[in-house]
Amino acid sequence: MRAALLDHVGRLADDDLPAYVYDLPGLREHVRAIRAALPDRVELLYAAKANSDPAILQTLAGHVSGFEVASGGELGHVRRLAPDAPVAFGGPGKTQTELACALDAGVERLHVESEHELCLLTTLLGDRTVDVLLRVNLPVEPGQVALAMGGRSSPFGMDPAQLDNCLELIASDPRVRLRGPHLHLASGLQAQAQLALVEKVLTWAEDWSHDRRIDLTEVNVGGGMGVDYAQPHRTFDWPVFGAGLRRILSRRPRLTLRIEPGRSVTAYCGWYVTQVLDIKFSRGQAFAVLRGGTHHLRTPAAKQHDQPFEVIADDVWPRPWARPEVRDEPVTLVGQLCTPKDVLARRVMVSRLRVGDRVAFAMAGAYAWNISHHAFLMHPHPTFHHVDDAPVSGTGDTYARRPS
Ligand SMILES: *Cc1c(COP(=O)(O)O)cnc(C)c1O
Repeated sequence: MRAALLDHVGRLADDDLPAYVYDLPGLREHVRAIRAALPDRVELLYAAKANSDPAILQTLAGHVSGFEVASGGELGHVRRLAPDAPVAFGGPGKTQTELACALDAGVERLHVESEHELCLLTTLLGDRTVDVLLRVNLPVEPGQVALAMGGRSSPFGMDPAQLDNCLELIASDPRVRLRGPHLHLASGLQAQAQLALVEKVLTWAEDWSHDRRIDLTEVNVGGGMGVDYAQPHRTFDWPVFGAGLRRILSRRPRLTLRIEPGRSVTAYCGWYVTQVLDIKFSRGQAFAVLRGGTHHLRTPAAKQHDQPFEVIADDVWPRPWARPEVRDEPVTLVGQLCTPKDVLARRVMVSRLRVGDRVAFAMAGAYAWNISHHAFLMHPHPTFHHVDDAPVSGTGDTYARRPS
């Protein structure tokens, strides 16, 4: 944890914990580095569902080409916070009301999930136009991945054979402009594997567009850039990915690629900071019971991993009895919920952990608070802190746009 964050945590009272602490300068630096690694003809959208915290969205707004939203709720939220940012609206199961809102909001792109959805969209257009991408589930093998959204039977997008009916509909309706295909097939790939997948996707897209006499100028290859919770320092290699994309694009002078990562953008900027309430030994195994738990940070339960953490020692012990502690042995960090599933990290070695010490869980900036079951057991919610020690450049109303 950076000194500025540690300093902030040091000033929190016990009852301010658990706390989500967001490192906004760290996020700014990270998104700048991502953008700098990518060629100009790659448009970087942030998938808001990873973390739609207002300060995070506003911090990102000046550095991304826009936001990918997956519900009417996210659409309204992003529009309020970043009114001028281009928005792509995707996701399965869009309601008629959501589609109408998307058209009213003038979304920059609509990612169509099915022929039915396209039909519904055309009934709502009136005299408006819409720019669509057709989401395709290609039969490619994404390899070893954390989550597969495609490459096998799935509720996401369309099988390639189903695209032709959509193309017919689009050809007969001048209000619908086809921008290209959209593919979000897998999550958890490292840079080389992600590049190999992009190559496969583009090879298919070029054959497909050639056969159908479509002028291919845009492909959205989705998100899913890998985040390794077991090795927090092994971040997705954006320079390697960017160099690979530059090679890929140099052979395709008219093509613009879009990517829409979520997790790999914000995972590292968030910390879930809490405190040890009790230490116990059960049948010879050590357990540390923490304030809060997986109802605030569901990520380790959802992904079945150990959330990485740092111990922030607190030497003050005001009680007259011996301070419970565990030394040089594996400990399981659990929360306050009355379920054996409330585990944040399992049998992880610590040199020392005592009641009253603080524990800061790293990589809690994506799919963390916002995917958690907050109401279970009615414990208090965490407090939220945005540490920003750098001058704020831009107020969230300027957006990086595609160079014309
Ligand atoms: C969730 C999602 C993303 C972002 O995925 P990450 O793994 O967070 O990068 C991008 N595109 C679509 C369509 C998604 O559903």
